[in-house]
Amino acid sequence: MATQTPARPLAGRVAVVTGASSGIGEASAEHLAWLGARVAVLARRAERLNDLVARIEKNGGQALALTVDVTDTTAVRTAAERMAAELGGADLLFNNAGVMLPAPIEELATDQWQRQIDLNITGLMNTIGAFTPQLVKAAGERGVADLINTSSIAAHGVFPNFAVYSATKAYVTHLSRHLRVELGPKNVRVSAIEPGIVGTELQNHVTDDGALAWLESSKETVEWLTPQDIAQTIGFIASLPPRANLQQVTIMPTAQPS
Ligand code: NDP
Repeated sequence: MATQTPARPLAGRVAVVTGASSGIGEASAEHLAWLGARVAVLARRAERLNDLVARIEKNGGQALALTVDVTDTTAVRTAAERMAAELGGADLLFNNAGVMLPAPIEELATDQWQRQIDLNITGLMNTIGAFTPQLVKAAGERGVADLINTSSIAAHGVFPNFAVYSATKAYVTHLSRHLRVELGPKNVRVSAIEPGIVGTELQNHVTDDGALAWLESSKETVEWLTPQDIAQTIGFIASLPPRANLQQVTIMPTAQPS
């Protein structure tokens, strides 16, 4: 028997999206709001967040800008408290802020290693630490909550000069599998989304000539994913019936081989 998806399957849900000032996070926040969720949007660039909130509200949604550096543990906790007070406790965390800085290991770009570790691992953990109590509480009351972490195909693939970035994403995927087992019995679904190349600001931060050349040539042969492709997938994951948890989703540009 066919089932009908309601027009706003996330009505009543309360989402927080990190890395919401551009790319995947921005598109996902907008899409989750369109699906009916109240959305807190979190990143460092206040103006971009305010524009996004204005767009969501213009479309009839409800949103809150949280200007926060996720590497700052105390600031993330304070933001979580503010969110609970002003928008309600989160029942959906899209833990998405991240940076990709490939470079040959022998260049010893230690500041870039550290930036990736600080954001992709420590920032991710800070957000999990601040919002997991809200997710567990919401799941106990409403029967479902979602923790969706942005990993990458780099978590599994082996790409020259991407060692540190890939290792941070392997961390995200492995952590997500563990947390799913731990939080699933409490009705918190845990997912890792692993995209191939998506056209965003991520590529703008790359400084390594070899990686830039590789990205440029891939653009000529592959139609990259758009942030909206990922946003739709996030909406789908969160809209599934509470009994169904998409543990790991790999989404590739159709013509990208690996
Ligand atoms: P963008 O560079 O467009 O987005 C990154 C977001 O992270 C921005 O909103 C940025 O906002 C935010 N951010 C960066 N540093 C911090 C910080 N210290 N505190 C809070 N927020 C921060 O890239 P994408 O949208 O592509 O990246 C989103 C995620 O997707 C990342 O985890 C990335 O690794 C992953 N990914 C991307 C792929 C791609 O090809 N684009 C492929 C696979 C995975 P602000 O600067 O305002 O703080």
